[in-house]
Amino acid sequence: MPFKVAMVLVGCLSFAALSCVKGGSPGTPPVAVKRTQMHMGTLVSITAVGQTQAEANAAVTAGFEEVKRLELLLSTWIPDSELSRVNAAAGRSAVTVSAETMTVVRKSLQVAELTDGAFNIAIGPAVDAWSISTEPRLPTVEELDALKPLVDLQSVHTDVWERSIHLQKPGMRIDVGGIGKGYAADQAVLVMRKAGAVAGVVALSGDIKTFGRLPDGEAFPVEIRHPRKENEILAQVTLQDEAISTAGDYERFFEKDGVRYHHILDPQTLQPARGCQSVSVIAKEGIWADGLDTGIFVLGAKRGMELVEQLENVEAIIVDDVGRVLISSGLRDRVVLASDH
Ligand code: ADP
Ligand code: MG
Repeated sequence: MPFKVAMVLVGCLSFAALSCVKGGSPGTPPVAVKRTQMHMGTLVSITAVGQTQAEANAAVTAGFEEVKRLELLLSTWIPDSELSRVNAAAGRSAVTVSAETMTVVRKSLQVAELTDGAFNIAIGPAVDAWSISTEPRLPTVEELDALKPLVDLQSVHTDVWERSIHLQKPGMRIDVGGIGKGYAADQAVLVMRKAGAVAGVVALSGDIKTFGRLPDGEAFPVEIRHPRKENEILAQVTLQDEAISTAGDYERFFEKDGVRYHHILDPQTLQPARGCQSVSVIAKEGIWADGLDTGIFVLGAKRGMELVEQLENVEAIIVDDVGRVLISSGLRDRVVLASDH
């Protein structure tokens, strides 16, 4: 492989305070269980707080089962996943899908609308051309130009009543890599609550959803990684029944002739987007946080922050292309920046 490849599997955010989980109501101190496994191409850490060890354990297991179930629907790495079947039928026929796949695709279209097309799940053919996650290569301008007609959201047809998706042009492929992990975090939290967990954290690398509070009553602290200083923290924020998602140009990239090529592509040029180094979005639901972090990364720092300020219950920390840190108005008193950021 000719290029320097850097893949950071351990995410840009980390859950900072697991060791605080102890104590609790007199008699039955809550118990925390944390386990980490590999799913959806990344490290998934699930923490559950329950009244008993067995309850916390069962909630963690239920969370992982849910992530695995969704991976089988949404992954384009799995040849017979629902999305792979939708992609294989491009230009031919509609494919009936589960309610979950429909939700992810419909929400993706909403994020596309909000971000003026910067978030575009029809990006699949371009993602494959760069193949940054496997064997990175520099596609030619002609090659990318030929793919542009396929990156066309107008040709993604969803039929809610039939619960089917039809990609209307042969060669089209949808890729929910920019939103699916946030959705998986939301769904894992739902099943963990059902299993009896009173609090917890689901972290798929940089896509994190928290629920409840630590036994001492504190909200969950989360750290945001510095986009240019490896192993250093940019900021810390506490979350209360919220999700945070980070898109960064340092997560999956290669360098050639001093230029960094990364995995978040501008749908207009099909080249890596250049307006930001990292975008962290906080929202109630992981699906919004994850979809928006990718879309805002493509919009760039200025337009991205303008969008955040218009949206209710959405906050962001954006590091722009030259390393300046922008914090949305509703987040300024909640974020602690590292002193030497
Ligand atoms: P990750 O947590 O995997 O880094 P991100 O939320 O940062 O995910 O999204 C990056 C992924 O989104 C890419 O790997 C690709 O699959 C997909 N993607 C790239 N560009 C776009 C885009 N403009 N719109 C939607 N999805 C995209
Ligand atoms: Mg995203």
